[in-house]
Amino acid sequence: MLLLAGCTGNFGLSAPTPIASTPPPVAASPSPTITAATAESTAAAISIPVPTVLPAPAEISPTPYPTLVTPTPPPTVAATHGPTAAATSTPAPTVLATPAEALATPPCPCDPACPCQINHVVIISIDGLRPDAIERADTPILDGLRTQGAYSPAAQAVLPSVTLVNHAAMLSGMSPAKHGIYWNSNDPDLGKIKGPTLFSAAHEAGLSTAMVVGKPKLEHLVLPGSVDNYIYAGFTDRQVVNEAIPLIQTNMPALLFIHLPDVDSAGHAIGWMSLAQLLAVSMTDSLIGEIVAALQEQDYLSQTLLIITSDHGGSGRRHGSDSPEDTTIPWLAVGPGVPAGVVLPGEITTYDTAATALSALRVPIPPEWDGRPVLEIFEPASP
Ligand SMILES: [Zn+2]
Repeated sequence: MLLLAGCTGNFGLSAPTPIASTPPPVAASPSPTITAATAESTAAAISIPVPTVLPAPAEISPTPYPTLVTPTPPPTVAATHGPTAAATSTPAPTVLATPAEALATPPCPCDPACPCQINHVVIISIDGLRPDAIERADTPILDGLRTQGAYSPAAQAVLPSVTLVNHAAMLSGMSPAKHGIYWNSNDPDLGKIKGPTLFSAAHEAGLSTAMVVGKPKLEHLVLPGSVDNYIYAGFTDRQVVNEAIPLIQTNMPALLFIHLPDVDSAGHAIGWMSLAQLLAVSMTDSLIGEIVAALQEQDYLSQTLLIITSDHGGSGRRHGSDSPEDTTIPWLAVGPGVPAGVVLPGEITTYDTAATALSALRVPIPPEWDGRPVLEIFEPASP
C-alpha cells in the first residue's frame, strides 16, 4: 500500500489527460451529446475567479486546487461515448486491506507538515448515476473535476442495488449484513442503521458533521447525536443545493454529505440513459458547479477532499439487480494531495467511501468496517 505519495506527488497543473483507460465501447450506440439548456449557466459556473483573500498560512495549500474549476477542454475519454463502464466492469470487488491493516497504517496519507492538509470532506452522492451517463451527457463540471483528480468509472454498489441499502454502506463503511439496512423505504418503525457510521465516528472524534438530503428515508442512517445538522431539503436537486450552500457559507462542517435525487427521479420517470435523464445529469452537473463555487468563495477548496459518487445505476426504469448497469457506479476524488489524472483501480466498493473520508480526516477506521481507504487517490498518475 503506497503511503505518503500525496505529499510528494505532482501538484502542478497538467494538460488534460485521458482519465480512463477503458477500451472503446463494444456496443456503442450513437447517441447525441446532450447540449443542455443550462450550458450557458454552466459555463458561467465554472468561470470562478481565483479568491483574492488567501487562507491563513496554516491552512493554505500551494496546490493548484483553488483553480480546480478552471474550464478545461473535455477529456479525450469523451470521444468514447457508450456504455463502456457498465459493459466492462468486473464485479466481485476485493477488499484489499483488512480493518486491522487499515488501522495499522497512518490515518492520513499526508504528513502534517505537508501542504496537502485536509480539514474538510464533502461527499456528493448523485442518486442513480451510471458512469456512462457522464460520458453521454454534457457535464463540464464533472469533466473538469475528473481531469483534476482521481476517477474510477467502475466502482461497485452492494446488493441489492437500491438507494437506502447503498447509502447505508457508503456512509457506514459496512456491508448490508453489518449495517442492517435491508429495506428501501422510510419507515420509522424499522429503526436506525447499526453503527458506527462515518458520522458517528467523526463526531466522536470531535468533528462537526452535516447531511443535506433529497429523500427523507435517508434519516434511517442518522444515529442519535451523530449529525450536527441534518436537513431534508425536499425531493429536488435545486432544493438540496439551496440548503447546502448557506450551510457552506455560514456553518461549514468538517464532514458534509450532500444527496442529489434528480437523476434517479428522471430514470424512474422516463428511463435510465434516456435523453431526459441525460439532461437531468447535465443540470445536476451545473448544480455541483454551484457547490464547488461556494466552497471556493469561502476558501475551503484548498483544504477539502471532495468525493463524488453514486448509490447505484439502473436500466429501463428500474434498478436493484446484480446487473452491471445497476451495480456500476462512478467514484471521483479531488482535493489537496490528489494528483491530476489518476485512474483508480476497479476494486472500489461503495463502503470504501466512508473509510476514505475518515482516513482523510485522520480519524481511526472502526475495526468492524468492511471498507478500506482508497489511498490510490494520492498516488501519482501513471504516465
Ligand atoms: Zn438511489
